[in-house]
Amino acid sequence: NRDRIMHSERLNVVSELAASVSHEIRNPLTVTSGFLQLLSKSKAIGPEEKEYVELSLQELRRAEKIVSDYLSFAKPQSDNMVYSDMSEELEYTKSVIMPYASIHKVEVAFSFNNSLKKHYDRNQVQQCLINLYKNGIEAMKEKGGGILFIDISEKKQNIVIRIEDTGVGMTKEEISRLGKPYYSTKEEGTGLGMLMVYSTVDKLKGFIEVESEKGKGTTFLITIPT
Ligand code: ADP
Ligand code: MG
Repeated sequence: NRDRIMHSERLNVVSELAASVSHEIRNPLTVTSGFLQLLSKSKAIGPEEKEYVELSLQELRRAEKIVSDYLSFAKPQSDNMVYSDMSEELEYTKSVIMPYASIHKVEVAFSFNNSLKKHYDRNQVQQCLINLYKNGIEAMKEKGGGILFIDISEKKQNIVIRIEDTGVGMTKEEISRLGKPYYSTKEEGTGLGMLMVYSTVDKLKGFIEVESEKGKGTTFLITIPT
């Protein structure tokens, strides 16, 4: 059940989508942060409460960053451009996702064997990887756990990233829907994660291959030229 998909037509909606999502989410984030900042200066709360407020502010800043990534993603590449080894991004995002994996009884197996460098947007690549890891973990959640394999290697002059899960899997038809805006089978899904993934890989002039078997699991193979 192997499909190569490159839905260029789906990429056009991304700019509009990014702008509206950012706008809708940024305002409540700003308002909430403002009130929490006021609260943190209040004499009516103790040190423990202050710490909770501080943690909440931290989380809000993280959310704001994610929103920014969606927006920056609509703009021409600028600040976040780096010339680096993508293994760093894989390793970093893996550590970010670890608590989420443990909550869902997912074990993470990580290996890398790559030294190829590439120009890329660091935030976008991190966001893209997190979206793929999250989907993998969520696919295993229903099965009560599993293993997420993350692997990066080089093949000729290409960087090859493999993200494999032992989750619920997809039919050929479901695979063909990946990357369609708002396509989600989850109760609280956004249906934006894969759209972001496809756009990012497309910008890197790479392609994605999806191998999946219903009930067994899914493998995403991403090939990026250097
Ligand atoms: P969301 O995660 O918010 O639902 P995504 O765009 O990230 O949106 O994914 C869209 C849909 O693709 C998911 O709802 C799920 O049905 C399917 N999907 C994505 N990745 C996987 C995976 N690793 N295993 C099984 N299904 C997946
Ligand atoms: Mg998702």
